[in-house]
Amino acid sequence: MTKWDKLLIITVVFLSTLGMFYVKSISTNSDNLYLAIEVDGKPYKTISLGGSPKNQLITVETPAGINLIEVEGNRVRIKEADCRDQLCVKTGWLSRANQISICLPNRVSIKLIGGKEDDIDIISY
Ligand SMILES: [Zn+2]
Repeated sequence: MTKWDKLLIITVVFLSTLGMFYVKSISTNSDNLYLAIEVDGKPYKTISLGGSPKNQLITVETPAGINLIEVEGNRVRIKEADCRDQLCVKTGWLSRANQISICLPNRVSIKLIGGKEDDIDIISY
């Protein structure tokens, strides 16, 4: 692992944490789930999952590799990837808001945004 890789990991984790807080503050009164795909920390594609019962396959191709993302109703997963660790594939299905699956070697992340109020962790004191 190079210094640059470590820096990238720290940045990704930091940004995801920030993103989660941001999402939590805006995602009240929403039943819709959105899939946000990021590549190298930048938004790549956002897809609304509400009312799409059909399976969708999205191929995310980056200079580092290829990730195949499967959308099935209101859940998503990284179905296949050509990365070394396969951690993103092992993460499995995401079905609740704020769940995230990251492919570090390929610098791809998928995240669910929105959802019902029940799904938000920090509501009560
Ligand atoms: Zn991976």
